[in-house]
Amino acid sequence: MITGKFVRKFLGAALVGAVCMFGCAVTAQAAVVVLDPGHGNGTFTAPGAAYDPYYESSMTLDVAKQIKSELESVGVTTYLTRDNNDTDLTLDGRAAVAKSYGADLLVSVHFNVSGPHDKNGCVVFASALGGNNSLEGIQLGNSILAQTTALGYYNKGVRGRLGSHGDYYGLIRYGTAQNIPTIILEQCYIDNPIDRAVLSSTGLQAAAHADAVGIYNYLKSVGKAY
Ligand SMILES: [Zn+2]
Repeated sequence: MITGKFVRKFLGAALVGAVCMFGCAVTAQAAVVVLDPGHGNGTFTAPGAAYDPYYESSMTLDVAKQIKSELESVGVTTYLTRDNNDTDLTLDGRAAVAKSYGADLLVSVHFNVSGPHDKNGCVVFASALGGNNSLEGIQLGNSILAQTTALGYYNKGVRGRLGSHGDYYGLIRYGTAQNIPTIILEQCYIDNPIDRAVLSSTGLQAAAHADAVGIYNYLKSVGKAY
């Protein structure tokens, strides 16, 4: 026999489940996340990696759109630097877009390849200059890597790389210059048999979900999500 109390409890749980995929209360957040789908077809944009049937510039857009959708479903304000493949953006233009949205975090989504096809795993790059931007990037990166590792991708860690002008990667350099903690997330190697096996068995959506949970968990850990 189903009592009224049970029905109310069940319906309440179903409602919470419907609006909160992370099993949490939905609360309006102050945090602003900007996602940068790496590459695209624009003049200023490197086309990105391609290794049939995987094409980086479209995959980054698909993943970023899903992360945005999931973060918004738990009350995190989220923007994209581009929402189609024809938007023409330089690297400093992407950082400027993030700044215009008041970004607390800038996450650039990428997929990797290597010449000999022998590298695999997920790696995150953060500013190597030290200070708050590096610290937040490292913490955010590790939170994402915890999820991608659980999904099956090897954890290559959060890394910094310096060049002759400071941070080696332009987006990190420009994002940090805007005082936005900025990371580059290299999801996996689309040319490597180990990563291709994980990607084909778990799917792109699972990777995006892992990223969204990692970002959300980080925001929660620093009191910017509930
Ligand atoms: Zn890339």
